[in-house]
Amino acid sequence: MPARLTRFILRHSAQPHGPVGLMYHSVQPGRRNPDWPWAVSKNQFAEQLDVLAAEGYVTPTISELLTRTQPWPERTAFISFDDGYVDNIDACSELQLRGMRATWYIVSSAVGKTPQWPDDGRPAGRMLNASELCEMQAAGMEIGSHTVNHVRLTDVDDTRMMQELTDSKAALEAILGNAVNSFAYPYGTSDTRCAMAVKQAGYTSACTTQTGWALRDNDPFQVRRLTVFNTDTASMLARKLYLGSHDVRWQDIAGSGLRRFRKDRTT
Ligand SMILES: [Zn+2]
Repeated sequence: MPARLTRFILRHSAQPHGPVGLMYHSVQPGRRNPDWPWAVSKNQFAEQLDVLAAEGYVTPTISELLTRTQPWPERTAFISFDDGYVDNIDACSELQLRGMRATWYIVSSAVGKTPQWPDDGRPAGRMLNASELCEMQAAGMEIGSHTVNHVRLTDVDDTRMMQELTDSKAALEAILGNAVNSFAYPYGTSDTRCAMAVKQAGYTSACTTQTGWALRDNDPFQVRRLTVFNTDTASMLARKLYLGSHDVRWQDIAGSGLRRFRKDRTT
């Protein structure tokens, strides 16, 4: 489908919605699509940032996103990275080249080390170390917490949950020399108990992996994000940005457009 026609259809499919959140993990060297679903190649990542730039997106950190009092432009994307893979250094450089910012959610026990949580095919080797995190922060990036041990918070008791939240916050604050206010739930799992504990531990926001527009729930402890997968092309990313959804096959877009058309005719 010609690019201009694609953009025309997408613009007319989109409703007013506010910021979108994007979640990345690993950004691997080279052009080939990585095998791990949560990794993108450096080449893919650069192309995706070029889409954001070409479409005029502003890319605040999570704290900037939530503290600004005026509304954000319709084209606002909050870019985030979970876990702290060492290959994210290159991703940080690509962002800097374009004057963009992002937020990193770091597992405090894995700083500079090989992660200890179950291996699901993630990249081998150590994670970002303390000096790399400080350099990224100095470059305008925000560093948040992703617990001490990458635990599923819904599975642990209140005491362990509070340790995971407060100990990771303190450890990262000691590295960075300033407050760490932002959090992302490992595996995206949370419930009311988790959200209350995150708030009680002194954080001002928490991200999930629920799809949809970032601030749809109007709750800073349930910020939604779209996952960027290894198979996402620049065109698929553009459709995700327009639709706030992972369902970006043309059949899905045609189906939702048809439903909206029918609804408009009957209301
Ligand atoms: Zn994670």
